[in-house]
Amino acid sequence: MTPVAIPVPERFTSAAYRSILADGEAGNHATVTDKVIRVIGEAGCRGYPYETCGLLIGTTTAAGDWKIDEARQVTNRNRSRAADRFDLDPAGYQAIDRELRGGGREILGVFHSHPDCPAKPSPTDLASAWEGFLYPIVSICDGKVAELRWWTLAAGGTQFQPVPIHPCA
Ligand SMILES: [Zn+2]
Repeated sequence: MTPVAIPVPERFTSAAYRSILADGEAGNHATVTDKVIRVIGEAGCRGYPYETCGLLIGTTTAAGDWKIDEARQVTNRNRSRAADRFDLDPAGYQAIDRELRGGGREILGVFHSHPDCPAKPSPTDLASAWEGFLYPIVSICDGKVAELRWWTLAAGGTQFQPVPIHPCA
């Protein structure tokens, strides 16, 4: 695979962006299927040059690790700044939540794409993030997947930490 060069807009190196990244990895890891990784990448490529978003579905272990076995794209309702913002359609969220109820699996995170930007969270991402949720960000450059990174809120909820990923079939 030829590595894709990821452009780094100036704002990504600003103090505001750097200050929302915590040192060290999250204490819990995520097990993720290949299919989930594929769905996140394909959604990001299809939607390029706009941001795409969706939900992660799975279970958590008693220790607090995530097991993600499904990813589903949900409409990005942001029309004015869809190139660098997303508003996940609440109706899409509610429909999936209702469907899952009682089945043992639940919504455990939100994925979104960063067109021509690094796979690092922004202050806007921080403002809408929930504790305990997983936030994979896929960087799409020139319409191709450049990088997929997984994040969660650190204790206190004011910064993101990278989440170690274990692949599974
Ligand atoms: Zn973002």
